[in-house]
Amino acid sequence: MEFSGHTLVTRTSYHNHTTWSDGASTVAEMIDAARKAGMEELGISDHFALAPDHRRFSWALPPESLDAYIAEVQKAKAAAKDLKILLGLEVDYFPESMDSIRQRLTPRPFDYLIGSVHFVDDFAIDLNAQPWESLSRAERNRMWRGYWQLVRDMAATRFFDIAGHFDLPKKFKFFPSLDLTDDAMAALDAIAAADMAMEINCSGWDKPVEEAYPALMYLREANRRKIPLVINSDAHSAGQVANHFERALRMAEEAGYTELVRFERRRRFACPIHPESRNE
Ligand SMILES: [Zn+2]
Ligand SMILES: [Zn+2]
Repeated sequence: MEFSGHTLVTRTSYHNHTTWSDGASTVAEMIDAARKAGMEELGISDHFALAPDHRRFSWALPPESLDAYIAEVQKAKAAAKDLKILLGLEVDYFPESMDSIRQRLTPRPFDYLIGSVHFVDDFAIDLNAQPWESLSRAERNRMWRGYWQLVRDMAATRFFDIAGHFDLPKKFKFFPSLDLTDDAMAALDAIAAADMAMEINCSGWDKPVEEAYPALMYLREANRRKIPLVINSDAHSAGQVANHFERALRMAEEAGYTELVRFERRRRFACPIHPESRNE
């Protein structure tokens, strides 16, 4: 893996799925790939979805397997000497489940929690394009509005460390027909007010929309609000662990970022993008 043109200080990737949820590779395979890609830190963050109606999702970690998942990642963490392994989780934000989400996750030794909105009411935003195709224009607008509101509410819980894929509903290129910029800005304000970090989620570059989450415009606004940033591939297989990292770094700089952040036991540390900016 080439990281040409940059001497990176912070080569971390915190949003990665394994066979514990909908990933194709095991924890060990992901670690091996991260090592080969020259990453310094690899965070495992399988899907955790505690729906209020106790629905099961084929793409999520079965809730009763949470401790087995933690045990495997912690074991890998202890064994990996040259690469730092972190214990994370990508948690679905279901407003009605917040009490039980807090109860289950707070006592456990996570390094960070990613808060993600994948559903507006019962509508799955990012599963495939078909549900979007069958929506009317008004319904699409309603989904977008509802999404931004849920991101605000998710941030307001102040429970999560990183906001996942900020503008996810754009995935299949179904955009609102109204200008919802104010709604998106309110979501950024909520993330800033909650002192959460955001991610550049590189997986969007490989989706129909062909751009990272968030769009550059939102990333600039995030920087203006001093929202801390991590770069994540959202890998679902070992080969994707460092996908588009260099491109994301250029995007971060274009948005005005000079530092990224790292996490450990839910505490955050700033790291300059370039070593020379250390003494500035
Ligand atoms: Zn997600
Ligand atoms: Zn994910």
